[in-house]
Parts: sequence; structure tokens; C-alpha cells
Amino acid sequence: MADVSLQPKHFLSDKVEHFTESVIREMTRQAMLYGAVNLAQGFPDFPAPAEIKHAAQEAIAHDVNQYAITWGAKNLRNAIARQMKLWQGISVDPETQVTVCCGSTETMISTLLAVCNRGDEVVIFEPFYENYGPDSILSGAKPVFVKLRPPAAADGEWSFDEHELRAAFHAHTKAIILNTPNNPTGKVFTRAELELIRDLCVEFNVLAVTDEIYEHIIYDGTEHISMASLPGMEDRTVTINGLSKTYSVTGWRVGWAVAPPHVTNAIRKVHDFLTVGAPAPLQEAGAAALSLPPSYYHSLATAYCARRDRLLPALTEAGFHCFKPRGAYYVMTDISAFGFADDVAFTKYLVKEIGVAAVPGSSFYNDPRDGARQVRFAFCKRADTLDAAARKLMTLRPK
Ligand code: GLN
Repeated sequence: MADVSLQPKHFLSDKVEHFTESVIREMTRQAMLYGAVNLAQGFPDFPAPAEIKHAAQEAIAHDVNQYAITWGAKNLRNAIARQMKLWQGISVDPETQVTVCCGSTETMISTLLAVCNRGDEVVIFEPFYENYGPDSILSGAKPVFVKLRPPAAADGEWSFDEHELRAAFHAHTKAIILNTPNNPTGKVFTRAELELIRDLCVEFNVLAVTDEIYEHIIYDGTEHISMASLPGMEDRTVTINGLSKTYSVTGWRVGWAVAPPHVTNAIRKVHDFLTVGAPAPLQEAGAAALSLPPSYYHSLATAYCARRDRLLPALTEAGFHCFKPRGAYYVMTDISAFGFADDVAFTKYLVKEIGVAAVPGSSFYNDPRDGARQVRFAFCKRADTLDAAARKLMTLRPK
């Protein structure tokens, strides 16, 4: 009799059959392997603000070295509530509506685990940040994808079809995941678009789970609007954010959810048993970060705009068609001009032969064929890093 314990899948959950490891993070490993300039994974290669590094050092020196309250240090929760009021006019009770987790990544999966039952459907715009697919699967939900279409005109916006979106909502829909400003497209959802989504959430009794991690990285006079600030959404929105992108500390792993009290209770329970808590000294430093003056956010957006405007012309000159981002720090490009079989073949060539790592577009789509002509570059990098990438990209030859 065959020994079932020796069969390859015997010890594994069925769930892990349905997704692969992150391609974004794999591309970082490839960049290291080939010594390539890493424009793949979205993390800054420049320092975090001195004040907040100092606050972290001080917290450790003052022995903030044991567990914080599982749902977040009081100082940080208070600062999060203050910021929600200041930027979005949303009143938040830090005692009953805020949960601090290990990055917005844990926050998202804790939220989905807290709200989804097997058979529930979760609406996701695609292209989407690759975590949302596995997050849905791990929480037992079925993702239902709605297309964001690239702009036809050079200066246009990514858009969705209202009827397609409506068709994605039905009785089993539990939640919609919305990421604005958006990774990977750079789309910043307008008030009119958010209102349309709001109306569907209300009609179908659906929760909005919004990833707003790029909130302060916006360009060209666009405005970031939190879904929770729309009338009718205050009791049906989970707003996810974190320190990583706004304060250039992706390795600190501090993120949070702001949600109605009964949803917060459920998220806190999952979070408690998943990770107990986010790093205590870094939560104190987070409170200091959230107390930086408004000028900090203005400089952040201005500096990112300059990085965008440095990389995009270089990509265009090298033969890429760029879809200009209005927010976040990525640019989706069309690679048709290079005549490769697909995005994966192209990014392999790019990292190995040209020396630049990027993310194949297919990682952001449910059906890989939909992203076969697209590649994403991250521009959260120093000017000299972007210039080094640009020099290498000039050696590419469009067909
Ligand atoms: N958000 C970043 C990206 O899309 C990476 C985040 C991560 O790897 N955890 O590249």
C-alpha cells in the first residue's frame, strides 16, 4: 500500500494550491542575484525622516521593549484618530475603532479573515496589488474582478465601466477592496467614482475595505478622498493605512485599520491571535511620525512628483508607453514596442541582460494574459538610482 504521508501534497492545505509566492518580492531577489537596479518592489532607497528614527531609538532606550496593547499603543491610536479628523474630517474613537497591526499587509488579511465566510464574494478592481488575491483565498472568499482600463489618450485616466461594476455585485457580495491612490496604476479615484461605489455598497449591503497607504503621494492637483468620509459609508468602511509609504519605513511593519466598533472587535480578535501586536517601540515612533507638521506631507508629494517626472521621460525615450500615474509611486507601462512573447520573458531579459528589475504586468491580473503587454516600474528611489536605471534602459532596442 502506498504511504500517503509521502505524497507531495499530503501535508499541505488546499488553499496554498491556488496562489504562488509574491512575484514582486521574487523580483527583488532576482535584482540582488543579477546586481540589477531594483525598480520592482516598492520600497524607498533613501533615508526615513531623522525625527522619527530618533523617536524609535529613544523608545528603545527608554525600554518600550515589551508588548504594546494588542490593538495598538494608545499614543499611536490617538495620533491616527487625530490625522483622520485633520485630513478627512472623519471622527474616530481611538478606543473602539482603531486596530494597529504588523503593516497594512497584516491589516488587510486580518480584516478579510474577520469579515468573510466561505462562499462570500469580494469585488476587486484589476489590475490589483497582488496580495488581495491570496488574501481573499485565505479568508475563504471568492474574488470577483472588475477591469480598470488604461487611458487611450496620453494624459487620460484609468477607468471602469459602471455596468461591469454593478454586474459584479450580488447577494453573496461581502466586500469590495478599493485601493486609492492605486497600486499599480497610479489612479486616484474621483469623488464621482467613489459615490458610484458607495451607492452599490449601500444597495447591496456591502463593506468597503479601502487600502489608502499612498494617501499622501498624489500629483497634478488631485485630491485623495477617503471612502469613509462619504455620507452613508461611515458604518460600512474599513480604512487601512500605515507608516510604510508616508514615512519611508516599509521594514518597520506598522499599519492599521479604522472601522466601526463591531467590525473593529472582530479585526482585533483575529489580529491578536495572528501576531499579538506590532513592534512596540516603532508604534511610539509612529505616534511621532503622525505628529510631523503639514509641510512634511507637502514636501513628500513634491519630491515624489519630481521622481515621477525623472523616470517617465526616460522610459518613454527607451520605447515604453507610460500610463501617467496621478498618485502612488509606480508607473504601468506598455511593452508592445519591444516585440517580446510576454511580460515575464521581457522582465527576465530586463533584469538579466539590461540590469533593471521591474514587475511583470501579469502579477496584477487574475488571467495572466491580461497583463502580458504590461510591466510596472517603482520610482520610490534616489535620483542617482533612477538615472542609473535610465542609462541601462537606453540600451534596450525597440523592434
Ligand atoms: N507595495 C509594494 C509593491 O507593490 C511592496 C509591498 C510588499 O512587498 N510588502 O511593490
